[in-house]
Amino acid sequence: MPDKTPSVAIIGCGFGGLGAAIELERNGIDNYTVFDRGSGVGGVWRDNTYPGAACDVPSPTYSYSYELETEWSARFGSQSEIKAYLERCAEKYGVLQKARFDTEIVAARFDESSGRWELEIEGGETQWFDALICATGQLSRPKIPDLDGLAAFAGDHFHSARWDHSVDLTGKKVAVVGSGASAVQLVPAIVDQVSELHVIQRSPNWVGNKWNHRSNRQVKWLMRNVPGLSRLQHNVEWAWYEARVPIIFDQFDPLRGGLHEWLKYKIRREIKDPELRKAVTPDYKVGCNRVLLSNEWYPALDRDQTTLHANAVTRVTPAGLVLDDGTEVDADVIIWCTGFTATEYLAPIDITGRDGRKLHTEWKNGPEAYLGITVSGYPNLFMIYGPNTGSLTNTIIFLLEKQARYAREAIQRIAKDGGWIDVRQDVQDAFNEEIQRKLSGTVFTSGCPGWYHTEDGKVVAVWPGSHVAYARATGKVDFDAYEIGTVSANA
Ligand code: NAP
Repeated sequence: MPDKTPSVAIIGCGFGGLGAAIELERNGIDNYTVFDRGSGVGGVWRDNTYPGAACDVPSPTYSYSYELETEWSARFGSQSEIKAYLERCAEKYGVLQKARFDTEIVAARFDESSGRWELEIEGGETQWFDALICATGQLSRPKIPDLDGLAAFAGDHFHSARWDHSVDLTGKKVAVVGSGASAVQLVPAIVDQVSELHVIQRSPNWVGNKWNHRSNRQVKWLMRNVPGLSRLQHNVEWAWYEARVPIIFDQFDPLRGGLHEWLKYKIRREIKDPELRKAVTPDYKVGCNRVLLSNEWYPALDRDQTTLHANAVTRVTPAGLVLDDGTEVDADVIIWCTGFTATEYLAPIDITGRDGRKLHTEWKNGPEAYLGITVSGYPNLFMIYGPNTGSLTNTIIFLLEKQARYAREAIQRIAKDGGWIDVRQDVQDAFNEEIQRKLSGTVFTSGCPGWYHTEDGKVVAVWPGSHVAYARATGKVDFDAYEIGTVSANA
């Protein structure tokens, strides 16, 4: 059998899916299709157009390592810049011609006799592929709480990731529900525009300084013209972030204690009102969910037109929100900064593996995979940004590149030998036991709000180690960890 060019389907055209497509292109595998239900490249960077949307990881490392950009306007690029960067990459590497936008994959079925995947597209069309790369992201499906009365709300309401640009907030009473990464960027961006701003904070987050600086013409010129300078900048930022591993993973508590005190000092320095200071101070350890970065969040909360409600929302009325202490908040506009269905990996695609196994049934107690990339029972399926691959210490782009490289190496083997590869269940189980063992006793299991764990508390989003360790673990596909399947020549 073969040495044929395998056909590959990639679902998702954000950083992960685009990076996987480029990895294939750069290695001579050009028989692929990228599907995306959105209308263009970019994933979350296409969808999140709320005011103030920007990256909170430095742009020199929040870009593909082989495609460093010299023109960032600041250390932390804005949403529109990142989206434009991704569009340029898609064009440069020839991915655009192989992308099908506005196309939602609703089901994927593995056929053991041919060793191929059948994809079903919304509307009923089907297509067959030798391998499937799922890069659907963890933060692509917005979550709005299912609250009584929402349908009867008289004003406008929308999720931060589905910003309604037809709604003018000028002079309006606006309620922002949530105080996570999106709210922290959005609230300072709209506070001067509205007449009243109500921020509904169910749990406070730790917020650190955003050490941002703008790039001027001279810096950009140097980046463009001095050989190796943008690479040096990338590597220095990368190493600086990688050095945070001991703080995040609880190995060196004095550092964490120092950070804790520093973040409390920031609250005291930026907020005058003692009641407000108390309300925004978390009662859990630093690092067990994302430390947010903003120099404007606390000052925006301390403004006269802003009221912080340290409450949950219980229901919606035609006039606004009712909070769990009975307070009624009148609002013309409600903006839901309530996050995403982050732990429901690959949902809502209906994925069927060997012997009719259903992935979502098997994952009902939380998703598990091997290296976050392959799942036993689902041959030739590779995930980008799968379970337990969330990057807390450094840039996710590094991990996405490692996953794309791993998938590409496996696909080359499939092309060479034909058939399929399926990670062994015992290998996957041992890997997950080890992951959970490493996580136990860290801040992630100390019980704090956020989306890194399922409702039962199983931590499914976090990679429990350094990026160097992940690179080592994924550096070469260990085919002994896989069952190798053959298919008949005329299948
Ligand atoms: P998030 O961090 O999950 O925050 C959701 C917020 O909504 C939390 O404050 C949560 O409170 C609150 N909430 C959820 N359901 C609620 C309810 N029923 N009633 C009241 N409050 C409720 O969501 P996000 O801000 O959209 O950010 C999601 C992720 O996107 C981030 O963690 C980050 O990874 C990514 N992001 C990245 C950037 C970037 O710069 N790279 C920017 C924005 C977002 P609890 O804390 O109590 O659950």
